[in-house]
Order: sequence, then C-alpha cells, then structure tokens
Amino acid sequence: MTSERRFIPVASPVFTGNEKTYVTDCLETGWISSGGNYVGRFESAFAEFCGVRHAVACCNGTVALHLALMALGVKAQDEVIIPTLTFVATANAVTYCGARPVFVDSEPLTWTINSAAIERHITPRTRGIIAVHLYGHPAEMDAIKAIAEHYNLFVIEDAAEAHGAEYKGRRAGSLSDMATFSFYGNKIIATGEGGMVVTDDARLAERARLLRGQGMDPERRYWFPIIGYNYRMMNIPAAIGLAQLEKVDWHIARRLEVAAWYREELRDMPGINWQTTPAWARHVYWMWTIVMEKKTEPERNQIISRLQQRGIETRPVFYPVHSLPPYRDPTQSESYPVAEQISRCGISLPTWAGVTYSDVHYICRNLRECLAEPFGRAARDESQNTEA
Ligand SMILES: *Cc1c(COP(=O)(O)O)cnc(C)c1O
Repeated sequence: MTSERRFIPVASPVFTGNEKTYVTDCLETGWISSGGNYVGRFESAFAEFCGVRHAVACCNGTVALHLALMALGVKAQDEVIIPTLTFVATANAVTYCGARPVFVDSEPLTWTINSAAIERHITPRTRGIIAVHLYGHPAEMDAIKAIAEHYNLFVIEDAAEAHGAEYKGRRAGSLSDMATFSFYGNKIIATGEGGMVVTDDARLAERARLLRGQGMDPERRYWFPIIGYNYRMMNIPAAIGLAQLEKVDWHIARRLEVAAWYREELRDMPGINWQTTPAWARHVYWMWTIVMEKKTEPERNQIISRLQQRGIETRPVFYPVHSLPPYRDPTQSESYPVAEQISRCGISLPTWAGVTYSDVHYICRNLRECLAEPFGRAARDESQNTEA
C-alpha cells in the first residue's frame, strides 16, 4: 500500500461562476421563495440548452418525473415500461400515479434499456416508456420511439444523470414527449435539490405548470380547478442552477477529460469493463462506472471498502429495481441477467469537475492493488462498514 494519504469524494459540486453573486442577490432582495425571477431565468436558459421550447422547474428530479407522468395522463392501473437498472425514483414516480412500472433488462454495451426487449412487455394497459440515460449515456432513442409510435405510447426521457448528453447530435431532453432532469448535489448541474421538466409541447408544459403550483388557475388567484401539488423550485436553487448552467460546457468538458484519463489508466487492466459508447452517443459521464467481470457481490463490496480505507470514495451500481422489496413480484419468473451482472459487479469511481489527473492515477493504482489482494470469507464482514 502506498503511504500517501488522500480523500477523494465520489462526487462533489464545483462552483466556479456566478453562484455566490446570484445567491447573495436573492438574499439581499429578499426573493428566496419560488416567486423570484431566477426561476424563470433558469427555465428559459435550460430550455435553450436542451433545444426545446418549454422548461418547468420543480423541487427535485423525482417530482419532475411525477409531473411529466401526470401531465401525460398516467393513472391508476396503467403500465409504464422502464429499465430495471435505474435509480429507484424512476419506478417510484410511476407508482405515485397508481400505475405499475414494468421492468426491462439492459442492453449489454450501453447498459441502457434494451429496446429489443421492450415489445414483448407491452400489454393493453401500457401507456408509455421511460428511457433512462444511465450514468450520462443516452438510450437508443430511435428504436424506442419507433416502438412507441407503433403502439401509440408516450416516451419520457429520465435525463436526471445526462445534462448535455447527445443522441445523433441532438440533446438529451429534446428526444421525447417530455424529459426530466435532476439537480441534486451530485448531478452534472447541482443546485442542492432541484429538478426540471422540459418539452416542446405547450399544452404539456402548461399542464405540468398547473400541477406544480397546487393546480391554481393562473388567471384567478386561489381558484383551484384541480388537485395540484406544491412542487415548485425556490429562487435560491434556481440562482445556483443558472450560474451552473452558464458554466455547463466547462463542467462537461472536465468530466469528459476525467473519463478519458480513466479509460487510459484502465485500458490494460484485465476483467474491467465500462459502457461502450457507439458513434451516435455523446456520453457525459455523470459517473465513470466499471464492471469487474467474474467478481461476486461480496468481493465487489470488499473492493469498495478497501478503496474507502485508502481515501477513495466509490458507489456500488444501483440494485435493479425489480429486486427491491416494494417491487419484487413472486408471480414473475422473468430474469434480468444483464442488469443483475452490472449491478453485482459494478462500481462508480470518483467523477466530478474537480478530479485531477493525479487523482485518477492514484485511484487506478489503488484499484489495481485492491484487486490483487486475496478475497476471503471476510468479504461479507468487511463490506458491512461501507454504507453507500
Ligand atoms: C437522481 C435521479 C433521479 C431523482 O432525482 P432527485 O433530484 O434525487 O429526486 C431520478 N432518476 C435518476 C436516473 C436519477 O439518477
């Protein structure tokens, strides 16, 4: 083991622009609630960034999904197709509508939803498909949209991890009926908590706006024609978001650079895989994530705790949602081998705008050493200290 001591977090926001100035402005003018003008400015700038007409800011990426599903009319008993390999929020938002998420396995190269497996999950109750741009890698949108058109389904992009990702030269957010983003503290643009719904459809945007603001008639104060929600974004996170967005090209360029360093450092390491990026994709690397072939889950967890001891914070890949207690279905025998393998053997390494070449070199050298140590029965015990 090397004697050098470091601590490298798996993710961290970086504020290099007008964040402080804009937040100070909120405080000095007293505009801290959702009434302040940074919300509208952030929405307009974000819509332009995605190449769409409308953006509706809200308080996080989960409610952004809920708003999109409600705007598209998802209701009780409906089914919505989603990849099983995603953050749980994708499924939860469907459940909030009283609908049922139907899980599809991942595609082995990009790890996004396997479009070839979608069709056989369509039933008369299916209303739409949520494509998740996993870890910043765009899903195969043309194939997904062709199926959706054929069966008259909506498509939502869950682009929570994919600000600035591109599919065939078009931005994430502009590739479906409605798309949603998250600005949680570890995302590519971070506002603490925050989310956005984007769409080209004025009617859907208006519907999302209405639902976001308690359902209040925009022409008649305190008149509520429907039951809405308070899902509004506050002015302070919007001010941070606007400042982050002004620097988004820099944030993405830094992530691409970090990913290139990882690729270079890990190129010769046997048994390590990562998302393969086809020519049509611009991956923006929310997380540089590797899969260690032929490792068991306890061994993977042991690697995580060994790296932690060396000052390197990592994350395991999400559990496939179909395996989580609320979503397990004992009547279902379907297996999801690709998602399960990625989940079991996957680790996300530190990926954020402040990671240096020296950090990546240190991380990869330590990873190599940790992989070379023997794995014992202790794997399970050692991993218990690691709370991801
Ligand atoms: C982060 C994330 C969300 C939820 O966003 P929050 O802002 O944390 O509510 C939804 N989907 C995916 C794929 C995410 O990574």
